[in-house]
Amino acid sequence: MDLGVLLPSLIPSSQSVYVLVFYFVYLAVAGEILPGKVIRGVVLSDGSQLRYRCNGLFALTLLVAILGISAKLGLVSPLVVADRGLELLSATFILCVLVTLVLYITGRSSSDKGSSLKPHVSGNLVHDWWFGIQLNPQFLSIDLKFFFVRAGMMGWLLINLSILAKSVQDGSMSQSMILYQIFCALYILDYFVHEEYMTSTWDIIAERLGFMLVFGDLLWIPFTFSIQGWWLLHNKVELTVPAIVANCFVFLIGYMVFRGANKQKHIFKKNPKTPIWGKPPVVVGGKLLASGYWGIARHCNYLGDLMLALSFSLPCGISSPVPYFYPIYLLILLIWRERRDEERCAEKYKEIWAEYLRLVPYRILPYVY
Ligand code: NDP
Repeated sequence: MDLGVLLPSLIPSSQSVYVLVFYFVYLAVAGEILPGKVIRGVVLSDGSQLRYRCNGLFALTLLVAILGISAKLGLVSPLVVADRGLELLSATFILCVLVTLVLYITGRSSSDKGSSLKPHVSGNLVHDWWFGIQLNPQFLSIDLKFFFVRAGMMGWLLINLSILAKSVQDGSMSQSMILYQIFCALYILDYFVHEEYMTSTWDIIAERLGFMLVFGDLLWIPFTFSIQGWWLLHNKVELTVPAIVANCFVFLIGYMVFRGANKQKHIFKKNPKTPIWGKPPVVVGGKLLASGYWGIARHCNYLGDLMLALSFSLPCGISSPVPYFYPIYLLILLIWRERRDEERCAEKYKEIWAEYLRLVPYRILPYVY
């Protein structure tokens, strides 16, 4: 790629700053005023519980409707994101750095003793900035961690929709683009339908809010998970009917395992007596579910997610490794995360965890890993 062309396109214009400002202000206001189920988060170590208003689906639908109508009236261009991808990426990066510097400074000066806001300071500036200082920092009573992950997931869909509009405009629309768009849109909509499940995930309950998480949510998710879409704008792929059928199959099985496993854990945490696949659950030490998907492997949900990630890339064929960036990254991330999660669980559950390991020996893929 020509650096003389690449570098200028990385400099954010005022328009890309307006796009980001509009987006974040909309999300902040919509998150506060739109109705939605209020969910109590997990019980923190000091006994407190945060509340999350799960109105992401409403906020997303309304935003897409507003943007669709505005595009129809000629008020905004549906190509604004696709045409300014690199600028938006660099503007988002600058935002991540600024936000996390503010989080670092305010976190360090916090004297709060509660689990959410207590500062965790190692003394190493880079470490504390990267991993964060506080567990659940807030701004104007908005839970920033929940807000950023929502912004990232919605941003991914908005980027994809703009790429779709671009492919219609330049005539590069293909079966591959349609498949990629449908799979991702279903995944993202499903995420918001089940937004409450997010409140018990590792990121929300265990990770502090530092550059790693903010960058991951705001930049990594929307801009790298959409690489396949960008790639399809410039590359033509001919898919055979069996390839399309196989691709749909990988998506459906992946979805079933991913959603099924996350749902089983969620309902088990709410009521450990709820039947799993029509039978009373197998429970270890009264705390851990060892039947259903959680009796097949200790992280079947990761397996489902990996299959889904693969299904987003398969529409691009196998001529280039570039569209496989997301499943490869996710494989590395989830193996690393699974190891860290196991360490945390071993420490938390002690002999109960050892018993669970004995009952369910596989980590992610039965008989393989
Ligand atoms: P999990 O939802 O698997 O949560 C792990 C926690 O669940 C453990 O710390 C423990 O918490 C509890 N737990 C573990 N085993 C059991 C059991 N047998 N019975 C009951 N509780 C158990 O992990 P994540 O939060 O990492 O992932 C959530 C979803 O998000 C996954 O589907 C994952 O694929 C997806 N994800 C996607 C990413 C992406 O980039 N696309 C990135 C990261 C995650 P406790 O102490 O509360 O019991």
